[in-house]
Amino acid sequence: HMPHLDMRQFMCRSDNYGVIIHDSKTGATASIDAPDAEAVEAELRKFGRQLTHIFTTHHHEDHVAGNLRLKELFGCKIIGPKNEAEKIPGIDTAVKGGDTFSWAGREVKVFDCPGHTRGHIAFYMPSEFSLFAGDTVFAMGCGRVNEGSMAEMWHSVNQFRPLPPVTHVYCGHEYTEANCRFALSVEPGNRDLQQRATVVAAQRARGEMTCPSTIGDELKTNPFMRCDSPEIRRHLKMETATDAEVFAELRHLKNSFK
Ligand code: ZN
Ligand code: FE
Repeated sequence: HMPHLDMRQFMCRSDNYGVIIHDSKTGATASIDAPDAEAVEAELRKFGRQLTHIFTTHHHEDHVAGNLRLKELFGCKIIGPKNEAEKIPGIDTAVKGGDTFSWAGREVKVFDCPGHTRGHIAFYMPSEFSLFAGDTVFAMGCGRVNEGSMAEMWHSVNQFRPLPPVTHVYCGHEYTEANCRFALSVEPGNRDLQQRATVVAAQRARGEMTCPSTIGDELKTNPFMRCDSPEIRRHLKMETATDAEVFAELRHLKNSFK
């Protein structure tokens, strides 16, 4: 049995999460995305670590801005999405949904998550019960649908529902408070959501990060994973619609929610 990886999450830019995962046995050290080279480097230096890999989820600037600088500093290898490989600075290895690879002796599974961007991927490490979801799933929310269709995004988000409920969900942004307000607006009677709102408000008041979340908590509180909720459907007057239609309506409403 292998000891778990050390995972450190930190804030960078304004609301981006950085995550550095480290295996003490092999020294393998990966940054999940690279929102800001200086912030990632500072976090590495704090613990005396050498970056060996970057796992890139998608091509947006706030996820790849640090790629080339970090590669220059550490000579790290960049693993990123095949379906938008041409947009990933410094990419060495292109992976797609269904691929698995080994990292620090652990299996990493790749999910395709089209919707936020055309080629967006997520990385899942079953042995660590950890999912690195990028801008596909947020705490109580999901990413904007910029490049794909609503149906694709619905599938991208919902493919995570069967993962073990204890799975940690590391996401790209601290958007939790705004997401929570929206979630309450469409499902005000959800007790788990009310409770989570209290926890999140206290965490933010103390300046703490609200993530990683878990699949179990998302199943109970994330409206985009709860398209079958009778209360949400009643609220939207969509009792007989498909889950994908409910998802699309929720995403439209969230786009203009204040
Ligand atoms: Zn993005
Ligand atoms: Fe982002």
